Amino acid sequence: MSKPKIAFYWCASCGGCEESIVDLAENILKVVDAVEIVLWPVAMDFKIKDVEALKDGEIAVSFINGGIRTGEQEHIANLLRKKSGLVVAYGACAHLGGVPGLANFYNRSKIFDYVYQKSPSVNNPDKIFPQEKTTVDEGELRLPKFYNTVYTLDQVIDVDYYLPGCAPPPDLIMKAIEAILSGNLPEKGAVLAPDKSLCDTCKRKITKPENAVIKKINRVHEVLMDPDKCFLDQGVICLGPATRDGCGERCINANMPCRGCFGPTSRVEDQGAKFLSALASIIDADNEEEIKKITDSIADPAGIFYFYSLPASMLRRKLGVDNE
Ligand code: SF4
Ligand code: SF4
Repeated sequence: MSKPKIAFYWCASCGGCEESIVDLAENILKVVDAVEIVLWPVAMDFKIKDVEALKDGEIAVSFINGGIRTGEQEHIANLLRKKSGLVVAYGACAHLGGVPGLANFYNRSKIFDYVYQKSPSVNNPDKIFPQEKTTVDEGELRLPKFYNTVYTLDQVIDVDYYLPGCAPPPDLIMKAIEAILSGNLPEKGAVLAPDKSLCDTCKRKITKPENAVIKKINRVHEVLMDPDKCFLDQGVICLGPATRDGCGERCINANMPCRGCFGPTSRVEDQGAKFLSALASIIDADNEEEIKKITDSIADPAGIFYFYSLPASMLRRKLGVDNE
C-alpha cells in the first residue's frame, strides 16, 4: 500500500520550524517510515516541477511554516493548497505572522531603505536596490516580488489546521501527525493545542496579581527576577493571560516571560488587545498623570503586545505608510 504523501515548505520565518522537525529526535524515524515526503527544500532535493506533476489533492498534508512576504511564497502556498488534501499552518509565523510580521509597522520602501542603504554595515553609494527583473548578457534574472505587508497563511490560502508555537514543540507535532495519519482530526480550523490560557497551567499563577499592583513596568534586564513569582507581580510584562497553553511553559521555566507565540485562545479575537485589558486591570494608579508615567515606561508597547500576532490582529499593520 502506498504511504501518504506529505510536504514541508518554508516561507517568511527564521528556520526554527524546520529545525523542530529534526527535534523530533528518534520519532522522526517513525514519521519517515509512515509517510512519503514529496517536498522538503531545506533537507531534500525536490523540484517544484515534481510537485506540479502531482495530481490535485495527491499530497495528504502540507505543513507550511512562515508568513507570506513574497510573490514566490504566495505562488508555492497556492500550489501546495491545490495539490494537498490538508494544509497545516505550521508554527507562529504561518499561524499569526510571527516576529517577521512586526515588519508591518513599516513598508517595503522603508525596509529596503534601511537594509540596502542606512544599515551601518552597508556601503551602497550607487543606491542599488533589488529589482524583480535584471537583464544580463546571459538573459533575464528574476527575484520574487517583495510585498509591502506580511500576511498570515490563512489570509492567502484556505488552511485546515494550525500547529502553534515558535517553534511547535515535539509532543504537539507528534500528536498532530498521529491524528492526521489516523484520520482522528478535530473540526476544520482547529488550533492543535489546548484551548485554555497559559496562566491556567503556569506554576507561578498562585502569585498572579488579581488587583492593582503595578507601579512601574520593568524590562527583563532591569530586575533580578524571582523564579517562583508571577512576572506581572514583578512588574515584568508576561503575555500568559492572553496566550494559549500547550508549550509546557518553556520560557517561564527558563525564568523568562511569555511573549505569546502560541497565539490567543478561541475566545480571544485580538491577543494584543486582550493583554492590554489584562494589564490595565492591574496598574496601580490614581490619576491620569500616574497612569501615563507607568504606561510610558513600557518600551515599544505595540511591539510587545503584538510580538507574534500583528498580521493576525485587528490592526494587521500600521496605516499611513503608503500601502500598496
Ligand atoms: S502572567 Fe506569566 S508568570 Fe504570571 S501566571 Fe501567567 S504565565 Fe505565569
Ligand atoms: S512561554 Fe509563551 S512565548 Fe514561550 S514558548 Fe510558551 S507560548 Fe511561546
